[in-house]
Amino acid sequence: MRAVPAASNTLSLVWEGLLDLLYPPHCLLCKLRLEEGSLCAACIKEMQFLAPYRACDRCGDGVEANSTQCEECQTGGFPAFEWSFGVGHYSGRLSQAIRLLKYGERVALTEPLGRQMALAIVPPYIQRIPLNLHGELEFDDVVPVPLHASRYRQRGFNQSERLALVIARERGWRLDTMGLRRVRATRAQASLDKSERGTNVLGAFEARTADYFAGRSVLLVDDVLTTMATVKECASVLKGAGASVVCVAGLARGG
Ligand SMILES: [Zn+2]
Ligand SMILES: [Zn+2]
Repeated sequence: MRAVPAASNTLSLVWEGLLDLLYPPHCLLCKLRLEEGSLCAACIKEMQFLAPYRACDRCGDGVEANSTQCEECQTGGFPAFEWSFGVGHYSGRLSQAIRLLKYGERVALTEPLGRQMALAIVPPYIQRIPLNLHGELEFDDVVPVPLHASRYRQRGFNQSERLALVIARERGWRLDTMGLRRVRATRAQASLDKSERGTNVLGAFEARTADYFAGRSVLLVDDVLTTMATVKECASVLKGAGASVVCVAGLARGG
């Protein structure tokens, strides 16, 4: 499977379909034979979804043992989003699955992983937000963190976009992949220290038009919330383009 470059999504999906016919599906992590799908129940169970993680109430950044908010939020430096949460912890089988998805081009993994995210986006995670969502959990738009066009061409797909697509479909929300664009290629956040991370993504994103998200409540979707700098920057662009509420959902925290 790896021998085929992801020249286009359609091509790799067709290829995966053909392989399913030739070789019945197996769990991508433990190789267990499956009737359908790409992950077995045992692997999903081991993924530490909803694992406890000491995160800031407000922004989702890491916090000290006894506090509920990070230092930055305690001093009023709130991010532009209302709330962020990671569905799982970036370790064990979940990190294995994410690496396979990103670097092994196993696009099929976005189905089971996206469904886990869609299931997890429920109170109490969201209910602490000052909601402007008609009294119930509902987003106008699901927006993935975009890749730069050059990275997109190189990888053949955007894993955050695929996760957002599954979430939007499962929850009946609208997917928007056009409104937020990455206009500048950036260096990998993991290679930078905390202060560099903020400046690295500064001005990297743009809304399609100045009021594209006017009055909209937006669920911003990322794969791994390694540093919050990227989603903070995206959220302020979304707010700048008029979004009324921005919540951030990451498949995993840490990494
Ligand atoms: Zn398995
Ligand atoms: Zn915080």
